[in-house]
Amino acid sequence: MPYPYLTLQSAACQASRVQSVRVYGRILPLAALLILMLTGAGCDDSDPTLRIFEKPIIFNEEREHLSLEYMKVRHGIEAESAVIDPRMVVVHWTAVYSIEETFDIFNPVRLRGRAELQDAGALNVSAHFLVDRDGTIFRLLPDTTFARHTIGLNYMAIGIENIGGSQAPLTRAQLRANTELITWLAGKYDIEYVIGHHEYQDFRGSDVWMETDPDYLTYKVDPGPEFMRRLRERLKPLEFKSGP
Ligand SMILES: [Zn+2]
Repeated sequence: MPYPYLTLQSAACQASRVQSVRVYGRILPLAALLILMLTGAGCDDSDPTLRIFEKPIIFNEEREHLSLEYMKVRHGIEAESAVIDPRMVVVHWTAVYSIEETFDIFNPVRLRGRAELQDAGALNVSAHFLVDRDGTIFRLLPDTTFARHTIGLNYMAIGIENIGGSQAPLTRAQLRANTELITWLAGKYDIEYVIGHHEYQDFRGSDVWMETDPDYLTYKVDPGPEFMRRLRERLKPLEFKSGP
């Protein structure tokens, strides 16, 4: 008697590996599917597959020039190219509720509006990664390109923005995506700190704080202590520091 043959993609396998499962009878297939979806059975969790979609913002000569200017004026760093040696990951939320709208804010080279930031430099704000509410990860800039997202710490920090805010708390899918993305980044770079943007001022006065104007500060609440608590629980084995 031929067995029904079921092919499925397990969400727990990052939707990237297809498993084939033999199931018996007529009722079992659905139950087996459910169990596999819930447990990720058959997946090798030690080898998760991360999927990142490239969605680059403009990084032209002008953006590089403005980045170098920011590095010099704000961080006091004279460099020849706008690159960073990543030692920190800063997690954010966008307070803008769609990928496209956020992309359109980060894409221009020069900052628009935001008078409190304009005075500090013409370089537009951005981040390296943008995580949608369903956990889809987009890369806006190469990991080691300079981006303006966290005062005093940009020169060493990779920024991850998550679509959400006080009107839409970050999702479990985003928590999972941030965990996997940071774990992957830690395998590539010597990441010592993982912080929420709301925690950045804790680094003032520390060895790693590099901002030439002690009064240039903005008050941040993203992504909030609850999301960071859950993220740190998941990242615990990697022993990142949360403060200076
Ligand atoms: Zn932020």
